[in-house]
Amino acid sequence: MVRNMFNRLYDAIKNKSALVLSLGIVSFTAMAESTITEAEFVDQGIANAKVYKEFAARGDKNAAVSSLTVFECGKVQSPDRSHWSPGVDVNVAHKMVASCYLLKHGDDYMVWDTGIPAPVANMKDGLSIAGGKINLFLDTPFPVLLKEYGVEPTDVKYLGLSHMHADHTGNANVFTNATWFIQEVEYNAAFGELAPKLNFNPKTYDKLDQNKVVKLNGYHDVFGDGSAVIIPAPGHTPGHQILFVNLESGPIILSGDLWHFTSNYTNERVPGFNFDMEQTRASIRLVDALAKVSGAKILIQHDHERNEHVPHAPDSIH
Ligand SMILES: [Zn+2]
Repeated sequence: MVRNMFNRLYDAIKNKSALVLSLGIVSFTAMAESTITEAEFVDQGIANAKVYKEFAARGDKNAAVSSLTVFECGKVQSPDRSHWSPGVDVNVAHKMVASCYLLKHGDDYMVWDTGIPAPVANMKDGLSIAGGKINLFLDTPFPVLLKEYGVEPTDVKYLGLSHMHADHTGNANVFTNATWFIQEVEYNAAFGELAPKLNFNPKTYDKLDQNKVVKLNGYHDVFGDGSAVIIPAPGHTPGHQILFVNLESGPIILSGDLWHFTSNYTNERVPGFNFDMEQTRASIRLVDALAKVSGAKILIQHDHERNEHVPHAPDSIH
């Protein structure tokens, strides 16, 4: 039933995409709403206009990821939501999820984000971080969930991490056979002096250096057919990135930590602990414009309420 509701939602989105498609060439009309011009996209270097034209032309179901499976890879709780929304909702209790994703394309698997570190599952009272402001909880580690689903971590061919915070890199080290895609600036931060300042935990990802690493300086078309595209959206961390996924039912943007929950999305609130808040705001405008022009649904990865309406493993989105 949940899936049916979801499919109806996506039918609505697909129709919006069709509207753009029917113009033959890309229409930047949709972008006018967000006051971002084609030239700005190019200037920002976040993704060039050509990429957006390709997105808008995606009606070809052969260029689709066959399934996107969502896993709940832990919970995040805080006594004070204003940690993410400075000055707003002070001392309001807050809960979020940490989501992980498995994409299937032909016979290949890609993982996007790896959740809270497995050892947290053994901590009865969870793991307290950020001076008690944030508590992490975990029922079942992502690698176990994957195996239960029928996929061995060593079978995963491609790994993308939105950024290097530990609730995203928690189980990254088990994907030993995966080609790892990371923005070069994020890689340099992760393995350099900036790591502790950015609250990265290198123990959660230190083995990835032995993987095949592809350092990016811009967008990257993972399967070469436009069905899954990594797009830089810096600010939360220096090389934060998002994933655009094209499914038969329509495109979805996995937005990393560009937003943490819906009220921050609606009100354009940016957490104070971001590496560069202005850069985050620029990324938000661009990704929001991308969603409008492509008709993509934005999946806010940490958002507890939104995730309740999204099918999770063993179900998939197609
Ligand atoms: Zn983060």
